[in-house]
Amino acid sequence: MGTIHLCAEQTLVNGSTGDPVLYVDYVDSDNALLFDAGDNAALSMERLADLRAVFITHHHVDHFIGLDRIVRANIDSDKVLSIFGPPHTIQKVYDRIRSYEYQFFPIQKIVLDLVEIEPHQLTRARIECTKRFPPPQPVSEPRTGRTIFSAPGLTVEAVAVDHTVPCLAYALVEAPAYHVKSTAIADGALRPGPWIREVAQRLAASPIDDGSVTIQGLKIPLQQVAQQYFHRAEGGRLAYVTDTVWSDTVQSDLIEFCRGANRLYCDCFYAEAQANSALKHKHMTTQTVAELAIRAKVRELILMHFSGRYRGRYEKLVDEVRGRFPHVSAQWA
Ligand SMILES: [Zn+2]
Ligand SMILES: [Zn+2]
Repeated sequence: MGTIHLCAEQTLVNGSTGDPVLYVDYVDSDNALLFDAGDNAALSMERLADLRAVFITHHHVDHFIGLDRIVRANIDSDKVLSIFGPPHTIQKVYDRIRSYEYQFFPIQKIVLDLVEIEPHQLTRARIECTKRFPPPQPVSEPRTGRTIFSAPGLTVEAVAVDHTVPCLAYALVEAPAYHVKSTAIADGALRPGPWIREVAQRLAASPIDDGSVTIQGLKIPLQQVAQQYFHRAEGGRLAYVTDTVWSDTVQSDLIEFCRGANRLYCDCFYAEAQANSALKHKHMTTQTVAELAIRAKVRELILMHFSGRYRGRYEKLVDEVRGRFPHVSAQWA
């Protein structure tokens, strides 16, 4: 039943060449996560409506233009959508929200939980549609540790990086857990239902629970359901690092942040030949990406945010990294 892979279903929405946008979903949960809010036109409104939290690295247009579709997809939902980002996120999201005219139908119940992340504090503001989006009243609290978000079975961590504006990197940490096998659901006799969550929680509490569970009127031994329908995930780490230069101020933090990650999604804006541009515009290069992956001992590296100047020869960027770090790939949308 064991696996060392991440359980997150990951979609690098625009591949390695467009705006970096990573959509993360779990088969047995309807709480999806989104890293960055750039162009997300390739994501359906249905998938955006499943979001529980959005993690914005910074407010450059290629990381923020997609906020409008996120709001549009969720405005009618009776839910709390958390939006994390660097300083000024609260005001910038609020300004966008206020730029629309609202009918304020009673069905529009969205609550936005806005959180600004700084090294030693978190600043929160909650703005609610039913209250007609009054001006935010931010409240700060001390921050201890790297974790900024928790949900059942996972946490998200953040660390500051070194870009031309305040910018964050994020890591998704999966706890060891039991997950339903979607193929077993498709092939098996049991229909999906609340029993999936119940069994997962009971196995997490006690993997040798020898009780039974009632599913669709049938009393079935828990271990039998576990064997047929569940697998145990060992937990893992996914790091999302973009729009940073490989400077002395962030190297050790980033190596520590990405240490042992099962998968690292990383900015690879420039080839090594453009290292001076990378310093000026504060991006990574094929050389610095490889150095981060090697020193952090990540298992797999996926490159993203290739500069459009390499159009037609993007593979050369992948080859440059592969020369130093073999477990690297790119994705083509
Ligand atoms: Zn940027
Ligand atoms: Zn960017």
